[in-house]
Amino acid sequence: MSRVIREAAPRFEVEVPLAIIGAGAAGLTAALAAAEEGVEALVIERDALPQGSTALSAGLIPAAGTRLQAARGIEDDPALFEADIQAKAGGRALPHLAALLAREAGPAIEWLAEAHGLPFSVAEDLDYPGHSRRRMHGLPSRSGAELLDRLRAAAEGAGATLLTSARVAALVADAQGRPRGIEIARPDGARERIGARALLLACSGYGGDPEMVRRHIPALAGAAYFGHPGNTGDAVKWGAALGGRLVQMGGHQGHGNVAHPAGILITWAVITAGGFQVNAAGRRFWNEARGYSEAAEAVLAQPEGIAFSVFDARIAAIARQFPDFRAAEAHGAVLSAPSVAALAARAGLPAAVFAASFAEVEALKRACATDAFGRDWRGSAPLVPPLHAVRVTGALFHTQGGLLVDEAGRVISEAGTPIPGLYAAGGAACGVSGPEASGYLSGNGLLSAVVLGRIAGREAARFTRG
Ligand SMILES: Cc1cc2nc3c(=O)[nH]c(=O)nc-3n(C[C@H](O)[C@H](O)[C@H](O)COP(=O)(O)OP(=O)(O)OC[C@H]3O[C@@H](n4cnc5c(N)ncnc54)[C@H](O)[C@@H]3O)c2cc1C
Repeated sequence: MSRVIREAAPRFEVEVPLAIIGAGAAGLTAALAAAEEGVEALVIERDALPQGSTALSAGLIPAAGTRLQAARGIEDDPALFEADIQAKAGGRALPHLAALLAREAGPAIEWLAEAHGLPFSVAEDLDYPGHSRRRMHGLPSRSGAELLDRLRAAAEGAGATLLTSARVAALVADAQGRPRGIEIARPDGARERIGARALLLACSGYGGDPEMVRRHIPALAGAAYFGHPGNTGDAVKWGAALGGRLVQMGGHQGHGNVAHPAGILITWAVITAGGFQVNAAGRRFWNEARGYSEAAEAVLAQPEGIAFSVFDARIAAIARQFPDFRAAEAHGAVLSAPSVAALAARAGLPAAVFAASFAEVEALKRACATDAFGRDWRGSAPLVPPLHAVRVTGALFHTQGGLLVDEAGRVISEAGTPIPGLYAAGGAACGVSGPEASGYLSGNGLLSAVVLGRIAGREAARFTRG
């Protein structure tokens, strides 16, 4: 149960300057930034081994105008990035955050690479819907687990302390409603109270609370949740109880390319590089180029909530850079066949209908045409046997709505003023995706975690120094 305890004169066993709740990308980046301000943060994590949704991700972070891009001849700048964020969100991304994150993403990546040795490179062979430049920055393994491990090593190396197997069960506030500390529940039932001059909520969103998902994202009520199960909305519950404003609560990242029943993410690159989706009847059903987030709802609306993603060996070679794709292959989820007819047989698709869908896509590519769903096939390479198909479904990955924060990561109250000493970043704060799945631009999740985490950690540290 996440609750706020109010006491006139709260007492604590221990006092720290800054307590950060959650050891995902947001919390660890914040701790690193605080350490650079000379403040040793205490990072409190419910799991024995920090993972969060961060470790489940591909660890790809968008940033514009970086030296890494320039070295590869990619011309990009924050204004273009901000325009892409707003275009994907239909102009409904919070303007102050879209501008801030687009501007600060490049410096954040360069800071992590150059000051803390995270060996980022630009994912040059991947296009993501809505990004007008190649600006995804990832670590060598292209996995969020590596990102998390390296952030953790950097934060601990800089002086942050990590307290694991420690679930924050309650915030403690004074009579004026100002946050003063936390109450921790240990796995054996023991309770501890820690006072803090500032609290930074980095315990992500509410994807792990089915009731909240039902209320705020009814289209995905009952869909599989693919994010970290411990993210049960504590930040938004505490923040709201302290008078914080919740905004764009329906915003989220879905994904319509999760191998089923294997439950393994198949990168959307299989679609953007020239693949397509059909339903169990062998028919295409939507414009896949719109994006993987809105694909969740599109796929779940098909019979049995199932679709097949179809691509070829060239595309599989691109996808293989991701450990998830290699895992799906090892699991047997990626079907292979030497011809269209053989692929239909392997996937259990009606042969004639699937062959017609396949032929139509290839004809559209040759004609550089736009199909009836609105997908523009210009520049799309033909699919050449051997061919592949994966049976997929839609899932909720993480939520994007949350606490309203200002440019310093301070939680803003219903009255429009910052709540003193309360900060939020990552999935705990409202992101830049607007109120719907379609507003999610690839990388918006880690963008808010890493970039806002850095800013909120720095500002919270400064606050503790008065
Ligand atoms: C499969 C998948 C793939 C993704 N791929 C990408 C990608 O490539 N690029 C991208 O930008 N985004 C991606 N995302 C989204 C991205 O992972 C998240 O937006 C990001 O990791 C959020 O970071 P965070 O630090 O806010 O939360 P998390 O990493 O989830 O960390 C939150 C931490 O808080 C802890 N916690 C929760 N409640 C408490 C409590 N009460 N007390 C103590 N600890 C608590 C949790 O245990 C967790 O460790 C993906 C998500 C998924 C699920």
